[in-house]
Amino acid sequence: MVEHKKNIAILGSTGSIGTQALEVIDLLPNKFNIIALSAGNNIKLISEQIKKYSPKVVCVKDLEATNELKKAFPNTQFVYGDEGLLEIANIKEIEMILVAVSGKIGLKPTIQAIKNKKDIALANKETLVMAGDIVMKLAKENNVQILPVDSEHSAIFQCMNNRNEVKHLVITSSGGPFRNATKEEMENANLDEALAHPRWKMGKKITVDSATLMNKGLEVIEAHHLFNFDYDEIKVIVHPQSYIHSAVEYKDGSIIAQIGNPSMHIPIQYALTYPERTEGIETESFDFIKAAKFEFYEPDMIKFPSLALAIEAGKKGGTYPVCMNAANEEAVFAFLEKKIKFLQIYEVTKKIFDEYISIENATIEQILEEDEKIRIKTRELVRTL
Ligand code: NDP
Ligand code: MG
Repeated sequence: MVEHKKNIAILGSTGSIGTQALEVIDLLPNKFNIIALSAGNNIKLISEQIKKYSPKVVCVKDLEATNELKKAFPNTQFVYGDEGLLEIANIKEIEMILVAVSGKIGLKPTIQAIKNKKDIALANKETLVMAGDIVMKLAKENNVQILPVDSEHSAIFQCMNNRNEVKHLVITSSGGPFRNATKEEMENANLDEALAHPRWKMGKKITVDSATLMNKGLEVIEAHHLFNFDYDEIKVIVHPQSYIHSAVEYKDGSIIAQIGNPSMHIPIQYALTYPERTEGIETESFDFIKAAKFEFYEPDMIKFPSLALAIEAGKKGGTYPVCMNAANEEAVFAFLEKKIKFLQIYEVTKKIFDEYISIENATIEQILEEDEKIRIKTRELVRTL
């Protein structure tokens, strides 16, 4: 019998998650048809991907790039910009979309794909941070699966048997590159130090968020929406070895944890092939004896106030998480452009957050408007520093 191939699209195929997803798919050629890919600015890499995978439709960031690409690939349909991503979400034959773009641009295509009843493999956590209530409600109404790609959420998803029997969720954090750093070392941390994550190789934005522990805060909000748990039912623990990718504690005191070598290939593959498990890239079995030591610590909320701020934003609800997310992202960009120092990422975000007045029951349009306003305000603040 010929196996049905799943028709998929990858938004952000040139990024860290996108390229690793293609590596997963390379080993499972009988399982997937790549219908559409999307890139931002990396025209060289998307050209190589078009050659290799012959997708029907490709989205890039601007019109200029599509004109250039059309000459090289006359048989491919090119679309561009935010609208282009929506066009991909509208392609009929696509069954699943991997949303692996970074930032707020993931939100609209995810919503559009859900409305079109396509399953979502979700890496883009900003989508749930900004509009988790709307997205999860829509997914339920349309009977669409949101399959988590983020390793912690994939772990929880894999450990979750019966939601009603679970007492709380345990999200693990490696602690990031500054786990043992002093305040002075963090004060003077340069770009390379902030980007030297001990466990994962990821895009720059999420790597800086992993250094401030903002990433863990975003993940708490993500877990709140994905699994429908109150913030007080979600614990964060620091586990520097990153072997336990997260865990679920049941009412009877039993804890189920997902363990493995730290590799994004595993959660990506599980989201793509769910509910099936197949052999994949990671062929080496986890070596318990070599691993030997599993350490756990309480997260230091004083040293890493971004984690506390994100959880506070999540608890307050409304558009507070939108504000926190947008201010933080702009502050991270400013740090990446060497306009502000590492600890100022939090200071800037906190100042914008403290002055913010939230909107209740905001629509997607209002959320995007608020997001834009906050970004302008944050960039202004950065200029005055
Ligand atoms: P990268 O920065 O490596 O990749 C981002 C992708 O999005 C690239 O393909 C990039 O294109 C594209 N992109 C960025 N901006 C735009 C834009 N304005 N228009 C169109 N395309 C754009 O990020 P990651 O792969 O690390 O992360 C992607 C998402 O997954 C994030 O939301 C992150 O939080 C989440 N995530 C990532 C993990 C990881 O291990 N990397 C783990 C868990 C979650 P180009 O490069 O061509 O410009
Ligand atoms: Mg994660």
